[in-house]
Amino acid sequence: MHINSLSSEQIALQDAARKLAQGEFKAKAARWDAEGIYPDENHHRLAELGYLAMAMPEEYGGNGASLVDIYLVVEEIAKVDFNTALIVHDQNVSPRIIATCGTEELKQQFLPRFAKGEIECAISWTEPQAGSDATAVTTRLRPEGDGYILNGGKIFTTFGDRADYLLVYARFCDSKGARGIGTVLVKRESPGVQVHILEQKMGARGCNECEIHFDDVFVPADHVVTQGVAENSSGFVKPLSVYNATRVGMGVLALGIAEGAFDEARDYMKTRRQFGKSLSEMQGLQWMMADMRIQIEAARALCYNALLMIDQGKPDPTLSSIAKLQATEMAQKVTHDALQMFGGYGYFGSLPLERMVRDVRMLTITGGTTQIHKNAIAGAIFRD
Ligand SMILES: Cc1cc2nc3c(=O)[nH]c(=O)nc-3n(C[C@H](O)[C@H](O)[C@H](O)COP(=O)(O)OP(=O)(O)OC[C@H]3O[C@@H](n4cnc5c(N)ncnc54)[C@H](O)[C@@H]3O)c2cc1C
Repeated sequence: MHINSLSSEQIALQDAARKLAQGEFKAKAARWDAEGIYPDENHHRLAELGYLAMAMPEEYGGNGASLVDIYLVVEEIAKVDFNTALIVHDQNVSPRIIATCGTEELKQQFLPRFAKGEIECAISWTEPQAGSDATAVTTRLRPEGDGYILNGGKIFTTFGDRADYLLVYARFCDSKGARGIGTVLVKRESPGVQVHILEQKMGARGCNECEIHFDDVFVPADHVVTQGVAENSSGFVKPLSVYNATRVGMGVLALGIAEGAFDEARDYMKTRRQFGKSLSEMQGLQWMMADMRIQIEAARALCYNALLMIDQGKPDPTLSSIAKLQATEMAQKVTHDALQMFGGYGYFGSLPLERMVRDVRMLTITGGTTQIHKNAIAGAIFRD
């Protein structure tokens, strides 16, 4: 599958990521899921190859890559190993927020360390009572000395158990809605931070989501990424420009899984014979594959178009919502249909289809649910 407008450098990047994914990551992918362990060795390999520093500007030691570049890599890895693809995706988000919103001092302090792979960061936004209603955040900062005291609780923080820093959404003052919310970097090992891993997870079992409590945690003033102010919602809105891309990134993760499932189904259909012929010769199944291909190509065009617009400085949040929704919903259907090609064998964990169906499920929930994106799309229709 091709995107016509890719440069020769981007094609080379895509080829290199494909070789790495197919040659090194594919064979081990089942293990992270089955044993519920973090793909540490893949993480080191990704860091060594510079894939975890792609998002950072070159002056801070990063690669200054475009979003299209980053997600070409994510897509190739997601085809075979969702847990490892999630590492590339997530480790490129927080540094971009700091690079986009932080002061020069903050960038100097943190970005080179992210670029070298010395530190990792997780996004801690969702709270038990602030899920889709993301501005209902009650985690609170109160000024004290040369910083703030943080109190509150978060849920579903991916990589919260291993990240050195948490990018926490919190309220800087008594305010309602988005006003007064800002973001701070909190060292996970600070006194007063408690992290509990959430058990019995459906998919992406190589990575953990966590419940986190902040009990009188000191946050130095120079760890503020965006200041929350009572007068407006700037501290909340600024990082959203980065999330705009992250949402499309969820779509690309889903796209990668769908493509991986499609490839598995196509290969199997050529070998499996029933009624004296191969499955690939049966028109009903050929049409299912054609439908999958159509859906994949449509989602792919949407995602890369949305990313390209952001790269070109013309972000379209509605297009990003459409791309995220379309790709993540498409991938639910495509992974299920691909599993169907394997009959009873697909239902068992000895084949990757069973894992792919579980892994992809989170993507219509996180990064804004399908329903919340539909609200945004509908809102834009009647606002414009
Ligand atoms: C695997 C996973 C990883 C995650 N990682 C992170 C992370 O790293 N950091 C982080 O901060 N959060 C993370 N999240 C949290 C995620 O962003 C939230 O789960 C999501 O925003 C939905 O919030 P909720 O779970 O509270 O559901 P709710 O908001 O309670 O929604 C429940 C249902 O109601 C629907 N709904 C809600 N409001 C409306 C409405 N107005 N109109 C129509 N339907 C509506 C929703 O679509 C959903 O179907 C993660 C979640 C998962 C599952």
